[in-house]
Formats: sequence, structure tokens, C-alpha cells
Amino acid sequence: MTFADLGLSEELLRAVSDAGYTEPTAIQAEAIPQVLMMRDLIAIAQTGTGKTASFVLPMIDILANGRRRARMPRSLILEPTRELAMQVAENFEKYGKNHDLKMALLIGGVQMGDQVKALEAGVDVLIATPGRLMDLFERGKILLTGCDLLVIDEADRMLDMGFIPDIEFICEKLPAQRQTLLFSATMPPPIKKLADKFLSNPKQLEV
Ligand code: AMP
Repeated sequence: MTFADLGLSEELLRAVSDAGYTEPTAIQAEAIPQVLMMRDLIAIAQTGTGKTASFVLPMIDILANGRRRARMPRSLILEPTRELAMQVAENFEKYGKNHDLKMALLIGGVQMGDQVKALEAGVDVLIATPGRLMDLFERGKILLTGCDLLVIDEADRMLDMGFIPDIEFICEKLPAQRQTLLFSATMPPPIKKLADKFLSNPKQLEV
């Protein structure tokens, strides 16, 4: 199995090869074609399996091929911690270096000013922790009506940190017609319930 077999664009294949990856990991091989087919997904995968690229790579392809409307955010990646959000943002920049996509990193513990400026300039992707995203949303700084690709990463850690009500709030502000990908190392009942409520006919993967 090669990355070229997964249906990714030439630009992404170049970025992947520049990153030094020779073949996809198990989760990448399983998830990337499903995401490109616009399926919802529940993936049980630990950190270190290459799961970040399994959603960031197809997301870049989907964004690059879609119609761009005034750079209203079209994808949202939710992470439980600032550190994880920053890592995913780095991944997004690395894999997206051949694409003209704009990203906003919305995390707590830093001033809102630059985040608001980025949002006002227009972005394609939001990479956020739930608290700061809710805060900006409630201040009227973010429009979520165009966000039709949602990734809930590290869902079990979101649960441990008490973020499930925030995630439910956010899901309700997103368009009902959307693609949702949920990644979790384990699948405790509250996460199963969240998936039942907000995913539609998801493909289930376990690596
Ligand atoms: P993750 O599970 O997303 O945190 O990724 C774990 C590490 O694996 C990161 O340092 C990635 O840069 C690296 N990685 C991701 N995909 C591949 C791949 N196909 N081949 C080699 N390394 C990879």
C-alpha cells in the first residue's frame, strides 16, 4: 500500500514524501479513503499511530477541491489541550505547504486579539480547544454555519476534562449536513452516546 493508492492529490503526495513518509500507517490506509468518500468515521486509535495525518491529509484535499466562500471556516478540528492543538496546527502547516489554505489556532491561555484578527481576515480551518472556541463564538467572532467537516480528536480525553457539554453545544451550531470524524483511544459509554447523537452511519475503524 502506498500513499498514492489512497486517492490523495499530487500536492499532498509531495508534502508526504517531503515529510519522509514512505508508506501509510494502518489508520491512514483505512481512514483516508473513507474520509475522502465523505463518510463519517469512528476511529479507535492511540497517539503515535499516525492518526493526525489520517484526518489532516484528506481534510486538505477536501478543502482544496471545494468552493471557497469568503474564507468562512469550512473545517473544525477540536482538541482537548493547547499542546495537542498546537501539534495539529504544525501538522496542518507541514502537510498543507503546497496549498493556499488559511488556519486559525484558537486556544486558551493566550490573548484573543490575534485570534480575532485571524478570524476577521478569513480562514478555511479552525483548530481549537472547546473553551476558547465557545468564548469566541459567544462574542460573535466566529461563524460556524459553513463548517461542514468536524474532527473530534482524543474524545476520551475530552470526556475526562469535562468538555462533553461544550462539544454538544458546538455540534449544535454546526450545519446538520456535515461530515464528522471522531478519534478516541477508548470508547467509554458517554463517547458512544456522543457518537450516536452526532455522527451519521459512521464507518468504525480500530487499529
Ligand atoms: P500521531 O499519531 O498523529 O501523533 O503521529 C505520530 C508520529 O508519526 C508523528 O511524529 C508523525 O509525524 C509520524 N507519522 C505520521 N504518519 C507517518 C507515516 N506514514 N510514516 C512515518 N511516520 C509517520
